[in-house]
Amino acid sequence: MAAELEIIDRSEEWGVFLKKKYKTDLNKLAREYPYTKSLTIGYDVLEGYGKTGTILADELLERPGKTLEDIRDAIRTGHLISRKDREGNDISEDIITGINIRFIHLPRKTQIRDIRAEHINKFVSVDGIIRRVTEVRPRLVIGAFRCPAGHFTYKAQDYGTYTEPDVCGNAECTQKKLELVQNRSTFIDSQKLRIQETPEGLRGGEQPQNIDIDIVDDICGIVSPGDRVIVNGILRSVQRITAGQKSTVFDLFVECNSIEISIKEFEEVNISEEDEETIKDMATDPGVYGKIARSIAPTIYGNDEVKEAIALQMFGGIAKEMPDGSSLRGDIHVLLVGDPGIAKSQLLRYVIKLAPRGIYTSGKSASSAGLTAAAVKDDLGDGRWTLEAGALVLADKGIAAVDEMDKMQKDDRSSLHEAMEQQSISVAKAGINATLRTRCSLLGAANPKLGRFDEFSNISEQVNMPPSLLSRFDLIFIMKDKPDAVRDLNIANHILKSHMAGEKIMHHKKHPIPGADDEYFKRELAPVMPEIDAVLLRKYLAYAKRNCFPMLTDDAKEILVQYYQNLRSVAIDSDKPVPVTARQLEALVRLAEASARVRLADEIDVDDAKRVVKIVDTCLKQVAYDPASGTIDIDRVATGITKSSRDMTRILRETIKILAEGAGSAKIDNVIDTMVSQHKYGKDEVEKLLDKLKRSGDIISPRNDTVKLL
Ligand code: ADP
Ligand code: MG
Repeated sequence: MAAELEIIDRSEEWGVFLKKKYKTDLNKLAREYPYTKSLTIGYDVLEGYGKTGTILADELLERPGKTLEDIRDAIRTGHLISRKDREGNDISEDIITGINIRFIHLPRKTQIRDIRAEHINKFVSVDGIIRRVTEVRPRLVIGAFRCPAGHFTYKAQDYGTYTEPDVCGNAECTQKKLELVQNRSTFIDSQKLRIQETPEGLRGGEQPQNIDIDIVDDICGIVSPGDRVIVNGILRSVQRITAGQKSTVFDLFVECNSIEISIKEFEEVNISEEDEETIKDMATDPGVYGKIARSIAPTIYGNDEVKEAIALQMFGGIAKEMPDGSSLRGDIHVLLVGDPGIAKSQLLRYVIKLAPRGIYTSGKSASSAGLTAAAVKDDLGDGRWTLEAGALVLADKGIAAVDEMDKMQKDDRSSLHEAMEQQSISVAKAGINATLRTRCSLLGAANPKLGRFDEFSNISEQVNMPPSLLSRFDLIFIMKDKPDAVRDLNIANHILKSHMAGEKIMHHKKHPIPGADDEYFKRELAPVMPEIDAVLLRKYLAYAKRNCFPMLTDDAKEILVQYYQNLRSVAIDSDKPVPVTARQLEALVRLAEASARVRLADEIDVDDAKRVVKIVDTCLKQVAYDPASGTIDIDRVATGITKSSRDMTRILRETIKILAEGAGSAKIDNVIDTMVSQHKYGKDEVEKLLDKLKRSGDIISPRNDTVKLL
């Protein structure tokens, strides 16, 4: 093989190849330079170019630096690029040195975690998701230095370190004080990226690994955080410097040759024709809803409604782009609020394993980007600003599971509003001005502040999220851990069954159990095995999302509209303000679309509508049910104040106003007396409300025993 490699004149072979396959591109490049600066060669084209092609392709991988120079030589000697400027001067050489030769479509990818010393100085192709990008800034490549006598000395710059010539390059001159002349120097656009392994490539729970990418010239500024990319380039190493000392450890980065942005969101999931048949078959089964729901976290007992909702969430509604340029969100957001130890975190982790493009994170995550995005100054940028993607950006076109949402940072809480509804995040800071996309559905979990959920106080306070944010969730489930003899026994049995099966498997590995075969373990594991295995379900989801775009039928529409009207009219007889907002109607539509998608149906029928009405109703009853008045009151979610407590506030304010007439302020005792005797409120609740209003600054207490309105 080696001998064979020697025989070929590389440059000439490249010339023949380029003339045959890339003549048009080269001509275009000659014409359009410097607006077009790159010749992009398909590695697949090269590999397909007979035996020479294979050899050249191998050589590119092994000795990329030399190969790229060979190609440039081939272009030069073969006169593959020629152009004259207006005055008739030949500028071909300028173009040839100015262009970039880039390779794309490499068949074999190296995982970031598998990059080793053996790859150094080799051509590699890695895929990942962009975590950070720096600003695009010029970098000095060749410095022009002038000495006091006016002579110019040129010095090529190494990556990252600025070097000045010690002495003037002119033979007769001994001047030492040279200064950089910018407009005679050569600069190149440069940018750094940090890419991270894609979540799909990770085996459950592994921390994703990163690698830095160095890019220059015309491919700068084309990617944003959250993009899925394939980076092709040469793996380089730089010596690490710790505390001013050169270390023997080297850091790795990829000198980028080309970037490919992958656009198809579900291409990670391969569906064969056979799979397609199976999926279509499953979709006709009337019991498919239950099957899918039961396949989500089978080790968790019960929680059927939650699992059904999560199933719909994974299928998702339809994102719509309207002719006026606006778009309607199709992603369904679900929030699980509940007592500790009720398997919320377990559910979230399971969903991530199922859903294509799932990201799991905790609200109190350590990364500076948090849930959305952040602009930071750090080592990656060498003092430049870098833009880092948070969980929702990384989960673009997938699902983000955010645990412990009650503990998220303040910045996240405010940026989540935009991220959830508009599905984008705008960052404008320093030199960075970007809009990142967050087209993902959010599955959140939150623990109530005081440990347990208290149905009598408002949910917004308990989970530490403003009502405006809560209203962006299509469904909010309250998971309560109420002791219940039957249920507890069932859960206990279920948990123990899975532990016992697990113990047996582990035991069998070390000390084989006589007579235990695969069949035996299958039976043992049956209660905790998903009915549809995760790999197939994932394919099912991807297939439905790719191919199924159902439309609402009139009958189904009727049901949704009617339910919505019903909700709104609950309060018409009283003076109740609007109890349900249009957001609930949109949620209904999205869920109904998802429901039809489960069947791979083209139409959203009456059953879909009924199914989602039932789910939404269950949720609203838990979340918006006002125990004081016995009605559903979405204000509990949307404003954090229930109608009945709003009424009480109003009455209290009026009472204070009347009693304060003339005197300027009212005696607290009088206020409480009036509230109790005339309006039939309890003394405790009045005192509590007075306290609350004082704290919120709505009323003030000029003296210890008086109050007045502000
Ligand atoms: P949370 O996040 O709600 O505080 P976790 O998800 O950490 O709770 O769950 C605590 C443990 O309790 C987990 O090991 C989980 O498997 C178990 N568990 C709780 N509820 C159930 C259930 N219904 N079925 C099976 N296991 C459960
Ligand atoms: Mg938890």
